[in-house]
Amino acid sequence: MRTEDHRVPLFPIFLKLDGCRCLVVGAGPVGESKIASLLEAGADVRVVSPDATRTVRDWAGEGRLVWVRRRFEPDDLRDEGGRDVRLVIAALPAGEDLARIADEARRRGVLCNAVDVPDHCDFYYPAVVRRGDLQIAISTSGHSPALAQRLRRELEAQFGHEYGQWLEDLGQARRALFAAGVEAAERTRLLHELASGEAFARYRASRVPDPDIPALGSGKVFLVGAGPGDPELLTLRALRVIGMADVVFHDDLVPAEVLELVPPGAQVRSVGKRHGTHHISQEGINALLIEGARAGRVVVRLKGGDVSIFGRANEEMQALSQAGVAFEVVPGVTAVSGAAAAAGVSLTDRATSSAVVLVTAQVCRGHARPDWGALVASGATLAIYMPGQRYDRIAGDLLRARLPPETPCLVVSRASQPDEMVRRTSVRDIASGVPGPAPAILIVGEVVGRRPAAGVGGPSGSRETDPGA
Ligand code: SAH
Repeated sequence: MRTEDHRVPLFPIFLKLDGCRCLVVGAGPVGESKIASLLEAGADVRVVSPDATRTVRDWAGEGRLVWVRRRFEPDDLRDEGGRDVRLVIAALPAGEDLARIADEARRRGVLCNAVDVPDHCDFYYPAVVRRGDLQIAISTSGHSPALAQRLRRELEAQFGHEYGQWLEDLGQARRALFAAGVEAAERTRLLHELASGEAFARYRASRVPDPDIPALGSGKVFLVGAGPGDPELLTLRALRVIGMADVVFHDDLVPAEVLELVPPGAQVRSVGKRHGTHHISQEGINALLIEGARAGRVVVRLKGGDVSIFGRANEEMQALSQAGVAFEVVPGVTAVSGAAAAAGVSLTDRATSSAVVLVTAQVCRGHARPDWGALVASGATLAIYMPGQRYDRIAGDLLRARLPPETPCLVVSRASQPDEMVRRTSVRDIASGVPGPAPAILIVGEVVGRRPAAGVGGPSGSRETDPGA
């Protein structure tokens, strides 16, 4: 719908059309999709149109519908017995026929949908998630079809195809309970229990073989990259996996907005380094993952950014392999990608930068410090993760490695989050001014000095500070 009259309240229903005569005027690609959904609902479809798509012609040839090869006539709104059709869909370009069809339909009380012309519509099509007999329909009354589409995608990720079969099983169980004459209160209690999240988890675990879903008694660990913070930057796979979780272990970088996507029945636990008073060691985290999987649960280990970048994924993957626990890695958008988008810069450039190096300023005891000389000599854009508070130290390292002091730098704090901040500076000035709140990333290189074109940047619209200007 292009626009709708928002003042008209809508009444949602699911209509039975099985065996009912429905008329579709127009059989181009749009008409075809409407015809398809009517056929799926078992409607007795009559199509009136001088021309038709190949598929509609095939359906007519197979006897699945009747195609009348001409323009609309008012009598098309009646069946052979003189009864009005249940509904009419006019899938035509706006024009004379459209108004005639709509007027005629209204006069007879036949429900009319004129595709893309809200004034001529008695009903609209919702965005639908369909899993067998489970249908979730979404309407925004035309305020935001984009929101409806996003919700549909999220619900699709949350409710996998297994819901269709499960719903059939629920229906069977329900009928059996009625047939067995179980007393009403007990029946209600059982029906709620059967439809619970726990019952669904058991059902899912018992289904074989689905590569996503662990077999009974053997859980699976998903190492999931949650991206830089904005839930919109989760992958569809991450969203789906989060939706299946029995238990979620997350680090400090994962914001509340992402954790809200965890299903209500699932257990959520922070294992972040900074969180609370209980510090959980890496070995402790490994043990929790293994224990959860061995208890037959879907364990989601949710990490900020991408799993494979400064996320100690190696330790976890090794521990899981050694324990013989099945696991899968779901990659995410890493911080530097989010930061570059926020600042409206590219990390590479055909003329000035043909490499990007992801490096951490945080070195553990016994670990080698980055070879700043080699990095600077390579001319790569440097994405410096975990810069901490000591920007002066990093600047010193870079200058000693003969990086020109005027080399542009970006400090991006909380990329993709509502309070995202971008600071443009240079290696010389890097230590002046308060660095933004954590988490922050420092990007160094000629290419980040380019000013973004107006209107470019991340979706959240960051605050810019420019102490040098
Ligand atoms: N696996 C993560 C990195 C973990 S290390 C990834 O791929 O992004 C943690 C560091 O990542 C932080 O100290 C910070 O430097 C960076 N970081 C993570 N999220 C960030 C964000 N939203 N904005 C800026 N930097 C971020």
